Amino acid sequence: MRWEPGDRSNIEDMRGRSGGRMVPIGIGGFVLLLLLSAVTGKNFFALLGTGDATPGDTVGTTGAVNASPAEERMVDFVDTVANDVQDTWARVLGGRYERTKVVLFRDAIESACGFAQSATGPFYCPRDHRVYLDLGFFDELTRRFGAPGDFAQAYVIAHEFGHHVQNLTGVTARGIGGPQTGAGSGSVAIELQADCFAGVWGHAASANGQLTAGHVELEPGDADEAIRAAAAIGDDRLQKMATGHVAPETFTHGSSAQRVEWFRRGMDSGDPRACNTFARTTH
Ligand SMILES: [Zn+2]
Repeated sequence: MRWEPGDRSNIEDMRGRSGGRMVPIGIGGFVLLLLLSAVTGKNFFALLGTGDATPGDTVGTTGAVNASPAEERMVDFVDTVANDVQDTWARVLGGRYERTKVVLFRDAIESACGFAQSATGPFYCPRDHRVYLDLGFFDELTRRFGAPGDFAQAYVIAHEFGHHVQNLTGVTARGIGGPQTGAGSGSVAIELQADCFAGVWGHAASANGQLTAGHVELEPGDADEAIRAAAAIGDDRLQKMATGHVAPETFTHGSSAQRVEWFRRGMDSGDPRACNTFARTTH
């Protein structure tokens, strides 16, 4: 997979503000900061991300991100994939598509869909229309799930944007009601369709033919990476491992074989109409 970095306009970077635990500075720290501020004339509380701390307050870490060059390259990668995926859906859906962002976080985050930890995996929150991702998940994908490769990672991102498309087009509501688990459930139909939509993007990306900033171009073998990833995060495998991708409302995504099948349908056809998982899995 080849890609050119874009402008990061698809990223909402919360890596410096998430991180799970708030850091209590305590009364001693407060006094020290007060002294430093008085001595230097600088507001050291501002460095803590709070301008008006009082004793006993807890404050978060600063917005500054301490990241390796490899991680920063990963941010560019996520932005580029998100941009390419969104361009594809804007073409397919026209004015019905609304662009959104990927919220990057570390360890844990408070989303409009509630508190989430990295262990829950990447997810889409229908309430604020955002995709949430801890970059550490890609290490998991490689090491724990045995699905390395940039297109495997891109598939995960594209799957989450598939949920966004479902939300915009009113499909998400169809998944609610009826049995919430099992092969015929609305939830499985929703997840398999998101896999198929990821494939629809993959089809578009392979037909691209030109590499510009913020875009990707697939290479031979890329689809196999995504298929490995789809197989790796099927319910049957995940339930054993007890971690991985999670939709906030449910744990059911379909079996590995189903996930591969629906990704392939999207990838082969490039047509969202080939993704009617509701007709296939509900009776
Ligand atoms: Zn999903």
